[in-house]
Amino acid sequence: MSRSPDAQRMEKIVSLCKRRGFVFQSSEIYGGLNGCWDYGPLGVELKRNLKNYWWHVMVHERDDVVGMDGSILMNRAVWKASGHEDTFSDPMVDCRSCKARLRADQVIERKGVRQCPNCGGKDLTEPRPFNLMFKTYVGATEGESSVTYLRPETAQSIFVQFKNVLEVSRKKLPFGIAQIGKAFRNEINPRNFTFRSREFEQMELEYFCRAEEGMKLLDYWLEERLKFYQNIGISREKLHARTVPDEERAFYSKGTYDIEYDFPFGWQELEGVAYRTDYDLSQHQNASGKSLEYFDEETKQRFVPHVVEPSAGVDRTVLALICEAYSEDEAPDEKGEMETRLVLRFHPRMAPIKCGVFPLLKNKEPLVAKAKEIIDLLRPHLTVFYDESGAIGRRYRRQDEIGTPFGVTVDFETLGEKDATLRDTVTLRERDSMKQERVAINDLAGILTPRIS
Ligand code: ATP
Repeated sequence: MSRSPDAQRMEKIVSLCKRRGFVFQSSEIYGGLNGCWDYGPLGVELKRNLKNYWWHVMVHERDDVVGMDGSILMNRAVWKASGHEDTFSDPMVDCRSCKARLRADQVIERKGVRQCPNCGGKDLTEPRPFNLMFKTYVGATEGESSVTYLRPETAQSIFVQFKNVLEVSRKKLPFGIAQIGKAFRNEINPRNFTFRSREFEQMELEYFCRAEEGMKLLDYWLEERLKFYQNIGISREKLHARTVPDEERAFYSKGTYDIEYDFPFGWQELEGVAYRTDYDLSQHQNASGKSLEYFDEETKQRFVPHVVEPSAGVDRTVLALICEAYSEDEAPDEKGEMETRLVLRFHPRMAPIKCGVFPLLKNKEPLVAKAKEIIDLLRPHLTVFYDESGAIGRRYRRQDEIGTPFGVTVDFETLGEKDATLRDTVTLRERDSMKQERVAINDLAGILTPRIS
């Protein structure tokens, strides 16, 4: 059976990610570890650009949000109070024939008989809850009293530190606390490359408010988050805001949206935007016996704030950025014949490298020296990459393939050998249009900086 164009596209994306150093399988030389991934030199830059931009928009550009960075290990009591210890689980079924462990919703049912999707076997266990948290032990003794978990979300440390952050920041409602960090879930079936991993990163905001503001703020944050995705280069047509129906919503949530992206493997969640009422703070207040109330100085009222949570996945968004950017078009090769060009059309803001710098020939000292001067000139403003090997067209292709939006070529005209008026000018090439313009070296930083920020 031939694979669908979408499956082929996904295969090409996965292979490009490995070949060019965006994403590697974790522990690859030992056969890998299912659901775990490492980001290579380009992947880590892409991921950082995303996280920095999120932080910039969600924290630095606002007066009403502050940040924090909580620990991954927390007191077990946190996970009891939040409900994770008892209920953070997927119903799971074991196939006795092929030993596969399956999520109950993946079991096929034919004429009322349950079947294993792997081997077709019909000898399946009844569904049992499988807790998604990774259990570990703190200290030297492994016993019930030393149990805790790797956090399955970053949000809980925000709730638990609510009072401390409120006191030191002296914020008034509505205000938010933002955090970016690792989270861990022992997913039964990690799949779709990095989309469903066992170790991943989240970017979460807990935006505290009064009860009467909750529903309005839920819609406000949905719009803000949709704008964010467009500002990092994801087209609006590939984004969808799904209203999560009552039966799928957490019982304490009064409204939830899933922001979905049209991945090659289908529409899937990038981010959840949920109005969680006062559930989390109330749970921790009751369990800890410590007040997590807010005192309104004007009305002299004390109450537990409500919260709206936009919770996004770093890894899923990185994958969406790569899927969105991946494209193939036609461009002339060295002999002028058309060939397929693979290009990642990243928004310049997200691109791992902003500008390639190329001396036309590597064995002409003055060209190389000029190119290195340009590298030094640009480096304080943007990430640059120097490449002197191979034909210039090949060097452009290598940068197109990793999404570098600009390329600067130093040629003999730069040296003023043919025309003195062109001395100290270079060719500036734009990745998508492949258009080239002649610009003065001294103007480069001024031209490029606004185009990448
Ligand atoms: P899903 O239904 O896909 O399992 P979820 O609804 O359980 O996701 P949330 O608990 O709302 O996810 O987590 C918030 C965000 O964290 C998700 O929108 C997603 O971007 C990210 N995330 C959650 N689980 C994973 C995972 N296993 N791998 C990568 N990212 C994840």
